[in-house]
Order: sequence, then structure tokens, then C-alpha cells
Amino acid sequence: MRKLTETRLVIASHNQGKIDELRDLLEPLGHELFTAGDLDLPEPDETGLTFEANAELKALAAAKGAGMPALADDSGLAVDGLDGAPGIYSARWAGPDRDFDLAMELVEKALQKQADGNRTARFLSVICLAWPDGETAFFRGEVTGTIVHPPRGGQGFGYDPIFQPDGYDRTFGEMPADEKHGWGHGEALSHRARAFKLFADQCLARRQGDPVP
Ligand code: IMP
Repeated sequence: MRKLTETRLVIASHNQGKIDELRDLLEPLGHELFTAGDLDLPEPDETGLTFEANAELKALAAAKGAGMPALADDSGLAVDGLDGAPGIYSARWAGPDRDFDLAMELVEKALQKQADGNRTARFLSVICLAWPDGETAFFRGEVTGTIVHPPRGGQGFGYDPIFQPDGYDRTFGEMPADEKHGWGHGEALSHRARAFKLFADQCLARRQGDPVP
């Protein structure tokens, strides 16, 4: 796997929740970070039909536009009883106003129509690292859990208040960022932290004492 030797890196996202989380993960490792917004990079249309395809088009557009390596995350909530919806359309369920109260209500309404009462779900994250020369690498993370109702907690972003990871009695919305990432517990917890850990293990030259487990 090609190593990421460059210090300067673009976070190819316009989603503040993701930017904050990727910043939390990358900054302790000594990277100088720019966001797509800092560099006035346009937001490409997410026309792909998989998390990988959408992560790749965002990362490549940013890497080529900025002339430095870029990291993009494409992620979403897949509810088992809804055949994996909202999945790659997770952001779109919140409408043009990015109203996640509405999106969480739509998930609940759809679940209530299901006869079997299955509320299991997973968050998925695919991180794509792209270099300006067009090379790409992919890292996929997943965390399983249950959809709760009503939503609980005001931390995190998006669907966090309705997702309770397996083995926990609180939702991601009730967890501070460190706990959602899983740092300090020895193991990455969130889908993004798990994908990030694969990226860090495979692409970064690790130093002793790095804060990422
Ligand atoms: P996209 O990857 O930018 O297309 O959007 C992913 C969408 O999935 C976000 O806007 C959130 O709604 C949802 N999502 C992804 N990761 C998380 C998370 O960690 N917590 C809550 N919602 C998330």
C-alpha cells in the first residue's frame, strides 16, 4: 500500500459533522488540514451507486483540484428492515434543508410499517484516499446497532440520536466524540473511526505514542 508521506491534506467534504470528526482523528497525527470549503473546491454531485463510488469521486475531485492528497468519506445508515435504506441516500432523506429531525422521523415511520419489528441497523463509512496523480485507496468501516425511538441526545450529527451501537445503552447522540470514536477504550467504535483506523494502519508511518490506537 502506498504510504501517505505528505503532511498537507484536504478533507474533501462540506459536511461540518464529518469535517469535525476527521479533524479530531487526523490533527493529533500532525497533519495540516484544509477543507474543500477553505480551498473553494466545488462539491461534486454524488452520482455513484455505492459508498465507494461516491467517496472516490469526492476524493479525486479534491485531490486534482487542490494538487495535494485528499481524504473523503461517504457514509450512511443502513436499516436492515428497510432493505438497507436510507443507505447511500442518507443525506438526501434530510431534504435540501438538511433536516435530520425529519429524516429520523421518516426512518421511524418506515419502520413502523414493517410487520417483523426488526430494528437492527448499521452505520457504514468508506474512506477514499486519493492522490493528485489519480491513485486511490479505500477503507471500509461498519458498526452494528439498533434504531431507537424517540431520538436521544444532542451530540454528534445526522442520525446519531436514533442509533444505539451494540453493547451500549446510549445512542451516539448521547456520547462525547471520544467515546463515539472509541478512543480510550482500546478499540475504534464508530464506522468512521474503524475505517480511519484501517487507513492509519496501512497508509501512515506510525510513531510510538500516536494517540490513535
Ligand atoms: P454523505 O456521505 O455526505 O453522502 O452523507 C452521509 C450522511 O449519512 C450524513 O449526512 C449523515 O446523515 C449520515 N451519517 C454518516 N455518518 C454519520 C454519523 O457518524 N452519524 C450520524 N449520521 C451519519
